[in-house]
Amino acid sequence: MRALVFNGPGEKSWAEVDEPTIIDATDAIVRVDLTTVCGSDLHILRGDVPEVSAGRILGHEAVGTVTAIGAGVRRVAVGERVLVSCISSCGACEYCRLSRYGQCVGGGGWILGHLINGTQAEFVRVPFADTSTYAIPEGVSDEEMLMIADILPTGYEVGVLLGTVHPGDVVVVIGAGPVGLAAIATAALLSPETIIAIDRDDKRLAVAAEFGADLTVNNSTIDPLAFVMEHSGGQGAHVVIEAVGLVETFELATTLVRPVGHVANIGVHGSPASLHLETLWHRDVTITTGLVDTFSTPTLIRLVASDQLEAKAFITHRFSMNDMLDAYDAFEHAGDSGALKVVIAATPQ
Ligand code: NAD
Ligand code: ZN
Repeated sequence: MRALVFNGPGEKSWAEVDEPTIIDATDAIVRVDLTTVCGSDLHILRGDVPEVSAGRILGHEAVGTVTAIGAGVRRVAVGERVLVSCISSCGACEYCRLSRYGQCVGGGGWILGHLINGTQAEFVRVPFADTSTYAIPEGVSDEEMLMIADILPTGYEVGVLLGTVHPGDVVVVIGAGPVGLAAIATAALLSPETIIAIDRDDKRLAVAAEFGADLTVNNSTIDPLAFVMEHSGGQGAHVVIEAVGLVETFELATTLVRPVGHVANIGVHGSPASLHLETLWHRDVTITTGLVDTFSTPTLIRLVASDQLEAKAFITHRFSMNDMLDAYDAFEHAGDSGALKVVIAATPQ
């Protein structure tokens, strides 16, 4: 089969590799019908995620069809169409029992396209298939479902819920990529007073406004601190969500938050940032970090099915799997291509 293989920092190929087979009794093999590229894949390619070894098939989001199951799989059947979530869950460890699947110590967590081969391939082995896949319900299309594999739960859980967005809050989202936009769209459900999006890319800021940002700031031309202070009564934001993954954007987040406020870091970081405790220690600020758990997946599916969340709006480009490298190119050069999420569909046989 063909797959997108990470060959070390800066190197990737669309290569011929062996098809996956069942290893553990709880595995399923899924034929990938749709997959996509995430900002985290770009971090891996930049060398920010050193535990990813050369030869790894990337990708942690898919909608597909089950083609084989191990002897221990009970809930998922061959022929069934499923969402393959970015987080796998053993379902039994102490973290899974708390619905904190991202921290699974039973062999799950973020493993696909990270510690084991992922979804940017014609087939993928999905461990713990019973507890790591979701049936595709009536009223939700495959493409909509794909947006629930990672970006929507990430923006909602790690940004909005860990940031504790409340009605009436001033919410700042730094980074208007798919994950930041997911945070904006799900924050908007909670009736904040103002959502301010910050990005260096005017195209992305225009999209942020469509997703529910009331105000947008290009921080390459406007001082974001002065802007946020001006629009928050001089106090700063109740909640600042960092959805970029750079030292400067994390450090910026900690300057934009008001006393008693929350900074919710979503970005994947590859370098140490400074925590300015000399200005923060007396401000009663809470800073959270988080790997998505995907405990909100069933909620998000209902929100999409009932048209309260427009999952389709994230999709800007469609490719066939044979054009995987073009899909990466469009996603990586979003400034030129205007890409948000690229949907990559199995090439018809
Ligand atoms: P993306 O690369 O598409 O978007 C990043 C956005 O940040 C872009 O719009 C870019 O223009 C903007 N940006 C870059 N530098 C900036 C700067 N200096 N100031 C302001 N804006 C800047 O990425 P994405 O797919 O939206 O993901 C966002 C982050 O979330 C990434 O770091 C990704 O790895 C991370 N992520 C984390 C989790 C998790 O569980 N914590 C899950 C998925 C993704
Ligand atoms: Zn577990």
